[in-house]
Amino acid sequence: MPFKEAMDRIFNKKICMKCGASNPIRAEKCRKCGSKQLRLKVRERKSGQ
Ligand SMILES: [Zn+2]
Repeated sequence: MPFKEAMDRIFNKKICMKCGASNPIRAEKCRKCGSKQLRLKVRERKSGQ
């Protein structure tokens, strides 16, 4: 697994509220639709998955 990808999975992301695309944590706007409505995606621990 590429290091960058691993880091992406460990650290938080930003999720576009418009299209739902995941963006880098440093992104200021969605790379897919250009919307600035991004919310933080906090790493969650889900059991049983
Ligand atoms: Zn978007």
